[in-house]
Amino acid sequence: MKDLEKIRKNQGKRRKIALMLAILVFLPFLSSCNTEDKIIVREHQGMHTTSFFAMDTLIDITINHRGYKKSLKDAFDLIMDYAYNFAAYEKTGDLADINKRTSDCLDISGDIKNQIEIANFVSQLTKGALDITIYPLVEAWGFPSKEFKVPRDEEIQELLSLVDYSKINLKEAISPRLCMPQDMKIDLGALAKGYTGDMVESLLKSQGAKGGLISLGGNIQVFGLKADKSLWRVGLQDPQDEKELLGLFEITDRAIVTSGSYQRNFIENDLFYHHILDPRTGYPADNELLSVTIVTKSGTYADALSTGLFVLGMEESLKIWKETQDFEAIFVTKDNLVYITEGLKESFTSLSDLYEFIIIPNN
Ligand code: ADP
Ligand code: MG
Repeated sequence: MKDLEKIRKNQGKRRKIALMLAILVFLPFLSSCNTEDKIIVREHQGMHTTSFFAMDTLIDITINHRGYKKSLKDAFDLIMDYAYNFAAYEKTGDLADINKRTSDCLDISGDIKNQIEIANFVSQLTKGALDITIYPLVEAWGFPSKEFKVPRDEEIQELLSLVDYSKINLKEAISPRLCMPQDMKIDLGALAKGYTGDMVESLLKSQGAKGGLISLGGNIQVFGLKADKSLWRVGLQDPQDEKELLGLFEITDRAIVTSGSYQRNFIENDLFYHHILDPRTGYPADNELLSVTIVTKSGTYADALSTGLFVLGMEESLKIWKETQDFEAIFVTKDNLVYITEGLKESFTSLSDLYEFIIIPNN
């Protein structure tokens, strides 16, 4: 009797081991099947689109490409990888590892290094209006957890002492290395979607796509032409009514990136608070602007700039526009004015009669 029980137990154990081995052997196939299953592809006007949720937003990718199946799947995989590795609020991943570091310095990935370099450049350009070391404050306001709260003023003043992009030190040894005081934390939320747009565009182009539109929430990136050889049409959202458009771009080979107070916000004691913080005060940026849209080649630059210029306000932003001459912009103000830099005259058409549209000359 005892022996019979032993044999049964052993058989049970063996079955478990066999099952585990089978799972291990088939796991890679199972996971790749899963990825393909998650992608639903729609066809429209000779092009293919997939949509899914990642990076806290709805993502749409449309391509003019015969090899669309593989390309859309590869783009999906890349975005999922970035969504995990560029999020400060994840428990693990490349950026989480930086924020959990136990010394001043650590090795970082090339993707993170590229983003920090562009962020630091835009921080200098905007005199610190963009500052990726803002994360301790972003956390205190409850934006990552979505448990929004207005922190006590003393807490804000204390956390402001941890915000200073000039303390980020990038070194290039065998691999890229980052050094900064251990209690400082980084947030790439202001430019990670722009960087992702750039990298997805490179991937799709390298696989032979003739054209594409990559939409990551307020970040749009277009290249090449549609299947009927026309330009891409990209709507500009009314910041006061998400169902309405202010106008339409007909454009290609550009990133069109919008930052605005309407994108993530909460109301407490009848006061409105939003997710773009002014690193000079620790409070949500408060000026005449409702939104800023940047149009330029690089999605990373456009995304970093849109956040920085939203904090700076229109007057300072226009000085930077005139100095650099390397982007175009649309500023929407709280008194229903839409300022459009001259370079967008040809590609942007206004659609709303609730706003006054004004072209800013480049001289
Ligand atoms: P969205 O994430 O809605 O597309 P943005 O590109 O403008 O909008 O980035 C806003 C995000 O950047 C915030 O959610 C926060 O994580 C981070 N952030 C907020 N204020 C700043 C700032 N002054 N400098 C750098 N990053 C910021
Ligand atoms: Mg941005």
